[in-house]
Amino acid sequence: MIFADAHSHINPIKGLGYKISEKFKSNDGWFIAYISSSPWDYFDDFNGFDSYEKMINYQINECQKSNEIGVKTACIAGFHPEDIDFLIDKVKMSPSSVLNLGLKVIEYEASLCKEGKLFGIGEVGRQHYKTQSERVAISQIILEKALEYAKDYDCMIHLHLENADTDTVRIIDYSVNKANIRNKKKIVFHHAKPSMLTEIDSLGYSATVYGIDEVLNIVLYNLPPIFMIESDFPDNPSFKKVVYPWELPRKITYFSKKYNINEEYLYKINVDNIEEAYNIRP
Ligand SMILES: [Zn+2]
Ligand SMILES: [Zn+2]
Repeated sequence: MIFADAHSHINPIKGLGYKISEKFKSNDGWFIAYISSSPWDYFDDFNGFDSYEKMINYQINECQKSNEIGVKTACIAGFHPEDIDFLIDKVKMSPSSVLNLGLKVIEYEASLCKEGKLFGIGEVGRQHYKTQSERVAISQIILEKALEYAKDYDCMIHLHLENADTDTVRIIDYSVNKANIRNKKKIVFHHAKPSMLTEIDSLGYSATVYGIDEVLNIVLYNLPPIFMIESDFPDNPSFKKVVYPWELPRKITYFSKKYNINEEYLYKINVDNIEEAYNIRP
């Protein structure tokens, strides 16, 4: 069997960069999606838009190296909802200037999607923790703008959202319909809870589940193959308690033996669902 990691991060400055793909490849990994981090995870100083631009260019370069060593790679960059809180609390920016920065960043990312340098925009969405309402409003404006670009330039979206279970899915569906996006498979609910998966699938979206034992135990035991698996690896040594992309194949194999899962099922979650979302084949 060949394995996919549908959502990881990459940091060539503080972390391993494309060497993740080398390790992943030697464990039967064939596909990985690398999502941007936040600029302060890369650089010690922060210079607004320039820092985002510099980080994304590093990331694109690293994705290219990953592709060159033979791991099919999708590069996706966004404006993470948590960035909004960081910029207001730590950088002391005003909420309205954070909104302007976020819009400028995703406009730049949309232009890279148009040129074919990025596969899509993500993570965008809403904070998964309680925060001030003006900050959630900023997240929502950026999300809706990202959906408009996704429609215009046919790019993907990786959603990072609050956890209101199936209600989160139905609320997002409203925004996606408003943006008039037909191919909803390109919209990925990242870090989806197992209880959200049936709703996500029935509305035509894609989902990634976190590849930890606790989650794999539920999805591989209970559910049809309607999801992809992610490591959400931060590629930053200062982040503790992580799942490594190159561990996913062993974990998935372990649980599929435990629950007598057939090859067809495994092929669906590791290959077919990747193709439906990313339009990439082995
Ligand atoms: Zn996330
Ligand atoms: Zn992530």
